[in-house]
Amino acid sequence: MKINPVNILKEHSLKHTKQRVRVLEEIALDTVAISQPELEKKLGKEIDRVTLYRILNIYEDKGILHRIMDMNGTANYAICSSSCSEEHHHDEHVHFNCTSCSKIYCLDVTVPKMVMPHGFKAVSMNTTAYGICEKCNLLVKEN
Ligand SMILES: [Zn+2]
Ligand SMILES: [Zn+2]
Ligand SMILES: [Zn+2]
Repeated sequence: MKINPVNILKEHSLKHTKQRVRVLEEIALDTVAISQPELEKKLGKEIDRVTLYRILNIYEDKGILHRIMDMNGTANYAICSSSCSEEHHHDEHVHFNCTSCSKIYCLDVTVPKMVMPHGFKAVSMNTTAYGICEKCNLLVKEN
């Protein structure tokens, strides 16, 4: 997905700072989600941890990024679909956590609607599939 960080900030009426643009650029580079430690490593020279954390929180609040916890409990971030908005995420797609390369993919697979018991109101749903991703599967075949 091609994204334009400056436009996204404008759409969400966020002031655009160099650091905010950098964070979005870095996350949009790849189609897979990026983990917080990975972001810290890549942007550590330009953005300190606290600022990075704050930017990620704003983006999550505004419906720009969604957070996916991986099997080790590490936060990963991916760009949201355009239907997400402030306080209202629509990322009801399946995530795939590869147990070999530990990358997280946003899959174009819709999470089936689940009916909650009376009195329970689900605000968001998280479905993560674990297994071997396409890339790792190919590597196995080549060897
Ligand atoms: Zn979202
Ligand atoms: Zn993999
Ligand atoms: Zn996703």
